[in-house]
Amino acid sequence: MKHKIIVATGNAGKMREFRMILEGLGLEILSMKDAGVSVDIVENGTTFAENAEIKAMAVWKQTGDIVLADDSGLVVDYLGGEPGIYSARYLGEDTSYEVKNQVIIDRLEGAKEEERTARFVCAIAAVLPDGRVLHTEGTVEGLIAHRPAGNGGFGYDPIFYLPEYGMTSAEISAEEKNGISHRGKALRAMEQLLGNVSGLAVDVTRRHTGR
Ligand code: IMP
Repeated sequence: MKHKIIVATGNAGKMREFRMILEGLGLEILSMKDAGVSVDIVENGTTFAENAEIKAMAVWKQTGDIVLADDSGLVVDYLGGEPGIYSARYLGEDTSYEVKNQVIIDRLEGAKEEERTARFVCAIAAVLPDGRVLHTEGTVEGLIAHRPAGNGGFGYDPIFYLPEYGMTSAEISAEEKNGISHRGKALRAMEQLLGNVSGLAVDVTRRHTGR
């Protein structure tokens, strides 16, 4: 049986990244919109992992397919971990990222170079058709840039400087970003976990053998 995976996100940028990474899995990948699901989700967890599970569960209750959800955000050490789990809501959901990014840069005025450390964190939760829940997490380390740069990615990418590339994560290619990103790492770990679940494994094995 060909399982469907529903990705519980309304964020087009994230959906693109999920598709790119999961497309080899041989499963049908649907956004909530594709699946015709609409749920109002209250993200009232206190960790990325809790919020990911809350989102995945809310959609699973309506479908029964495999549901994946992530919760992710930017953790800035100099700001005591802000915006963290509030990354999407930081300064208000409708505030543009041009503004959010500039405010973060401004708040780091006076910070020493070594105090500009930050990381993107991504927790992924999967709910299986039988209700079992799997969790993975990925991080990528960087520095808050002195000015925004690049048009790729989304959200805070233009101010997330990757020292090993000498560029922000909005300047590297989508493939490069998926290779190193928090979401890429968490998703590949989830792909592995899903591969070990009996019943789903057939599809995952086919991907590795080309059959
Ligand atoms: P979520 O939809 O509640 O997980 O919110 C995640 C928020 O964190 C996004 O809306 C972005 O603001 C930020 N974020 C997460 N991942 C990335 C990324 O890869 N690049 C830039 N910003 C990100």
